[in-house]
Amino acid sequence: MHFYLSFIRRFIINSSELEKLVNYYHEKKLAHAYLLSTNNISKCLEILLNVIKNIFCQEEYSSNCNKCSLCHLIDLNNLPSLKIINPDGNFIKKEQILELQHFFSKDSQYTEESIYIIKNAEKMNKEAANTMLKFLEEPTGKVIGFFLTNDKDNVMLTIKSRTQVIEVLFNNEENEKYDIDMDTYHKYLEIINNYLQKLEIEKKELILYNRVYLSDLEKEDIKKIFQIILDIYNDELSSRYKINDSFLKLDYLHKLSVDNLQKKINLLIEFLKELTYNVNTDLLLDKFVIEMDGINNDL
Ligand SMILES: [Zn+2]
Repeated sequence: MHFYLSFIRRFIINSSELEKLVNYYHEKKLAHAYLLSTNNISKCLEILLNVIKNIFCQEEYSSNCNKCSLCHLIDLNNLPSLKIINPDGNFIKKEQILELQHFFSKDSQYTEESIYIIKNAEKMNKEAANTMLKFLEEPTGKVIGFFLTNDKDNVMLTIKSRTQVIEVLFNNEENEKYDIDMDTYHKYLEIINNYLQKLEIEKKELILYNRVYLSDLEKEDIKKIFQIILDIYNDELSSRYKINDSFLKLDYLHKLSVDNLQKKINLLIEFLKELTYNVNTDLLLDKFVIEMDGINNDL
């Protein structure tokens, strides 16, 4: 049962909005500029770069494409039509934006559009934001911009009002410390498989299954189990956007619509949060299965 090893995406919890940009691009619905509001800029950047690769890949894109030179150049941060701007000291300065504009004044030779990414957009001072404004209002060519911030409230309004905002949230640091080792996987593999099947296929007497499978376990173990279950749903969701291949390929998950998948993922996240603070685990579990059942499975 080695397929449970696909949990590198464990910490990504709400990236699907970002991943939808791949479709928007091909449907020609992509906006000129996005503000990505996130609690983890480096992880958000990582996903964004995958999205960009997915859009421009010269081959049939799959995660970690190593077939095409374009994805390779992005990996090396060496693609001329992609510029990432970091704060210079405490600020992003006007000169950095001017340089970017100069660079993008010609059409890109490498990708259909040029792309810039501004990390910590809240660190743009007024002059930089005003310079940026000219760029946003009269783009000199085909340019797509991404402003990343973990402090949306402090992003200049001039930028905020001209970008589409996407929230990209990740599990908090505490959850990241989860290190689910292989022993844990193996120990709970059967419980997880059974529980998931009951949850998605044999939906009768769900509350009973909570008692059968989970009641005797310590809270910490229940947490781990649901963390893995969340991974499984996330894994399926990201496969829909070709961000990675689903390792599990569970039929009953594959039949779920993207919307329902996302709803279930949100429920799981909520449940895991509540589990941390709530004493009555049984009650929480029962509430969880009832809410899961309330989401149409469009089978
Ligand atoms: Zn590629």
